[in-house]
Amino acid sequence: MKYTKEAILDHAKKENVRYIRLMFSDIIGTIKSVEIPIGQLESALDGEIMFDGSSIEGFVRIMEADMFLRPDFDTWMILSWEETKYGKVARLICDVYTPEGNPSEADPRSNLKKTIKKMEKLGFSTLKIGFEPEFFLFKLDDKGQVKLDVADHGGYFDLSPIDGAEDCRRDIVLELEKIGFKIEASHHEVAPGQNEINFEFADVVEACDNLQTFKLVVKNIARRHNLHATFMPKPIASVNGSGMHTNCSLADEFGKNAFYDPKDEMGLSVTARQWITGILIHSKEFCAITNPTVNSYKRLVPGYEAPCYMSWSEHNRSVMIRIPATRGRGTRAEIRSVDTSANPYLAMSVLLASGLDAIEKNYPLINPINENLFALTNEQRKEMGVENLPDNLKEAIDFFKGSPLMKEVLGNHIFNKFIELKTKEWDEFRKTVTEWEIKRYINII
Ligand code: GLN
Ligand code: MG
Ligand code: MG
Ligand code: MG
Repeated sequence: MKYTKEAILDHAKKENVRYIRLMFSDIIGTIKSVEIPIGQLESALDGEIMFDGSSIEGFVRIMEADMFLRPDFDTWMILSWEETKYGKVARLICDVYTPEGNPSEADPRSNLKKTIKKMEKLGFSTLKIGFEPEFFLFKLDDKGQVKLDVADHGGYFDLSPIDGAEDCRRDIVLELEKIGFKIEASHHEVAPGQNEINFEFADVVEACDNLQTFKLVVKNIARRHNLHATFMPKPIASVNGSGMHTNCSLADEFGKNAFYDPKDEMGLSVTARQWITGILIHSKEFCAITNPTVNSYKRLVPGYEAPCYMSWSEHNRSVMIRIPATRGRGTRAEIRSVDTSANPYLAMSVLLASGLDAIEKNYPLINPINENLFALTNEQRKEMGVENLPDNLKEAIDFFKGSPLMKEVLGNHIFNKFIELKTKEWDEFRKTVTEWEIKRYINII
C-alpha cells in the first residue's frame, strides 16, 4: 500500500487541500463524484460518507438507495489542473458499499475485484493491462460548442507545423506526468485531429483507475486550448475511428509472466493460447460491453485498421488479437476490438472472465491465422472458421443476453440493467431518421 490514513491527512494539510472528490463510476463508465470539504476527509477515509444511489445510472434500486463510499487509499491524488483560489482539490477513487457492509452489486469496480478473486483461485497473481487510448480533438465555436472541425490536418506520426494540436498534446502529457503517469509514447494518429497517448501498464484495477483519470485530464487540458477531446469511437465516417487496444498478460503466483514459454515455437505458453481462445470464443457475447454504443459498430468495419473478424495472429493487424513481438516479461496479447466508449472496469471484468473460462475448461485451442483477412471473401473466412464480430449494437445485445457467462460474471443486477439501458439506446437510434436516409431516398422514391 502506498498511503495510510495518517499519510493522506498529513499530505492534505501540507498541500493546503480544501476539497476532496470521492469518485466512482456508474454502469456506463461515467465518473461520478461527491465533493466534500477538507473537514470531512477523516470520516471519508473511514468510509462513512453516504450518497443517494437512486439517481445514479445503474444504481437505482428502491431498497438500496443509501450507499457508502469506501476510498481506496492508494488512489489519493491532488488534481493539479484544478487548483482554485481557495486551495487545492484532491480525489480518492472509491468502492461502493451497501449499508450492510457488502460491495454493491451495481458497482463496476467492485465487480472487477470479484472477477479478480476468481483469477487468484486459479493460481494467477495479477492481470497486467496496458491501454492504448485514441481520441479526437475538435475545435470549439464562439459559444464553446463543439464543431465537427478537427483541430489539425496531420497524419500518422506527423510533427509540427502540420500538427496544430501538438501543444495541446504536450500539455496533456506534462499534466499527466505531474500527477505521476509514466508516459511511454504520444503521437498523432492516422486521422486528422486524432491522437494517441500510451502510459505504463499496471495491475488491472489500477489500469482502469488510470484510464478514468486519463480521460478527465485529456478533456480538461483540451478545453484550455479551446479544443474538445472526444473518445467517441467513430466521429467521422470517412477516416479511422478511435480504438483502445488493450494489452494483457497474466502473472503466475510468483509474479512471473504466465504467457511466455521459451520452448514454444511462438514463445507462447499454453496459458496464453487458452487465454486467447477464451477471448475469441466469447467475443460476440462481451462485445456489447467492450463496444457499448451505437457508434462503436461504425468503427468495426473493414478499411480503417479496426478489427471485424474473430481471430488472432502474430503479425497481421487485421485480426482481433495480435501478439506483439516482445517476449519474456513483456509477452502479451493485444486485444484490438475494445473501444474508448467502454466502461473499463466492466470491460476488463468480462475479458478476464472469458480468458479464465478457457483456462479452466481447457477448450480446444484456436490456431493463429496469418493471412490478411480483409483481402478474403466472407466464404473464404468461414472456411477458415473465422466469424465476424456483431454488425451493430442490437446484434451485440442479443449475443450478450444469451450468454450464461456474462450473466454470471456481471451478476443479475448489472447484467439486466445493462440490457435495459442499451435496448433503450438502440430503440432510440432505430426510430431516428438519419441524414443518410434523407440523402439516399428523398429524391428517388
Ligand atoms: N484507430 C485504429 C482503430 O480503430 C487503430 C490504429 C492503430 O493504432 N494502428 O482501432
Ligand atoms: Mg498504439
Ligand atoms: Mg493507435
Ligand atoms: Mg496497438
